[in-house]
Amino acid sequence: MIKNLIFIGYPGSGKGTVAKLMTQYDQISTGDLLRKEIASGSKLGREIATIINQGNLVSDEMALATIKSNLDPQKNYIFDGFPRTLKQAEMLNDLVSDSFLAVVFDIDKSILEERIVNRRSCPKCGAIFNLKLKPPQKEDTCDSCGHTGLSHRVDDTKEVLEKRFSVYEKESGAIFNYYKSKNKILILDASKDSEELVKEILKFS
Ligand code: AMP
Repeated sequence: MIKNLIFIGYPGSGKGTVAKLMTQYDQISTGDLLRKEIASGSKLGREIATIINQGNLVSDEMALATIKSNLDPQKNYIFDGFPRTLKQAEMLNDLVSDSFLAVVFDIDKSILEERIVNRRSCPKCGAIFNLKLKPPQKEDTCDSCGHTGLSHRVDDTKEVLEKRFSVYEKESGAIFNYYKSKNKILILDASKDSEELVKEILKFS
């Protein structure tokens, strides 16, 4: 089995949902870790919130420090949302063994807005829902753990999304070329069902 998978794709392209299904791997999501820092109420968290709420990226150094302090070299990881820049890709190369594959979630941007503005997640167990496409069985209640009160991310709004999309478009080409040149890239049609995507990834890894 490939030791590390690196998930790359537009916000809302399904990286987090697929990562949660692939229990062979631990998911490490810089977005989730940064949101944890925000929830702690620290001064750093407040600085991070300002950046995230505007749809910008935190610095490469901060993103790397977030990853590093949570990494156990014995484990197999899915990196979800890291790298976001070419510099981060180069930094990650020094952290992971040679056994890795970059997985690109390729999708038409036009369908993402509806996915994202209707996205809700369980603050307790992390399960992801969509009010239109995959609503919870009982309103505002998590199907997986029963927690009441699903969260809506402050950056999952139409306005912030435009910025997040443009940041992704600016940075992603260089990241693709980096992994292409290493011949370690798998491009998936991310409009397919998540279970199908898991099967396709496992075929390669
Ligand atoms: P995500 O949950 O992956 O959509 O990330 C939410 C937000 O966290 C992003 O829009 C960025 O502001 C920030 N973020 C997450 N990962 C990174 C990263 N690798 N580098 C810089 N900023 C990041």
